[in-house]
Amino acid sequence: MPRSPRTLQQRLTEGVVIGAEGYVFELERRGYVKAGPFVPEVILDAPEALAQLHREFLRAGADVMVALTYYAHRDKLRAVRREGDLEAMNRRAVRIANEVAAEGDALVAGNVSNTWSFDPEHPVGSGRVVREQYREQLGWAVGEGIDFVIAETNDYVGEAVIALEVCQELGLPAMVTFASVQSERTYDGFSYVDACRVLADKGAALVGLNCSRGPETMLPLLERIRAAVDVPVAAQPVPYRTTHRTPAFESLEYEGGRRAFPIELEPFGLTRFEMADFARRARDIGVDYVGICCGGAPHHVRAMAEALGRTPPASRYSPAMELHPVLGGDGRQGSMGRWEGEDPAAAGSP
Ligand SMILES: [Zn+2]
Repeated sequence: MPRSPRTLQQRLTEGVVIGAEGYVFELERRGYVKAGPFVPEVILDAPEALAQLHREFLRAGADVMVALTYYAHRDKLRAVRREGDLEAMNRRAVRIANEVAAEGDALVAGNVSNTWSFDPEHPVGSGRVVREQYREQLGWAVGEGIDFVIAETNDYVGEAVIALEVCQELGLPAMVTFASVQSERTYDGFSYVDACRVLADKGAALVGLNCSRGPETMLPLLERIRAAVDVPVAAQPVPYRTTHRTPAFESLEYEGGRRAFPIELEPFGLTRFEMADFARRARDIGVDYVGICCGGAPHHVRAMAEALGRTPPASRYSPAMELHPVLGGDGRQGSMGRWEGEDPAAAGSP
């Protein structure tokens, strides 16, 4: 049963659908998820913290509440010795997403991801393990009620196809997106454009990219994907300053070579204005589902929603810098943005 009378397909024909993810990163920053394993134990350990982040994304303009079942599959839970919590964790995550979605008019997406269980050298045997994990996760999600599935951060076409097939068994529309970690190809050797084409041909409702790339390195690839497929395209970049030399945020480095990923990325972060610009550019090249991934926070989402012509509830508190005592237009601001004749350190903040 759809949670909202306006289905995903209807919304896609009406305009851009706004997504928001990055739950694991944001809840890690807030102290509810352990970096390293990145298992969303928050679902059972601090459900109110998860509900709050959903609510913040909803207020910021997200059209979809994505159940936080990323990495909540059997292998990962075994690794943190919580396999006994598998079903409870998956069900509770979908229930929380539904509860918050009902506060607005949002859709609820079930979520599966790269599992690290798939081995392209042994696609049949490892594929069976992956398929069982997706079946149990999505079976519980259907039991709790979802509108569609986001199968994301895929590194292998082989694994992504399994996710799509499980969605099809369950009669659910699937948005399937790849994490373009490498410069050109998936780990099983498909160009990212071909990878999307394969999934579109097999019946995915949307295809595209999420995670790994920031706007600058994701947009050129998105243009090629848009030209190659007839189905709606999805884009959820990370808000980080990736470059031609380091197209994925996993390889961003400090001078001297220290890796910034995953918990020293702040100096590479993009502002809300840069993400708003991404949202406009993505829409202009024909991307249908515009969102954000790891590193994303509600202020990014609000700016993106506003750039796409929306006025979400959180816009009530969008910036009004003309009312700032120092930066506002009352004539006291110096050319360097400081109070003239005053020691800037004494000007106070904010
Ligand atoms: Zn991500």
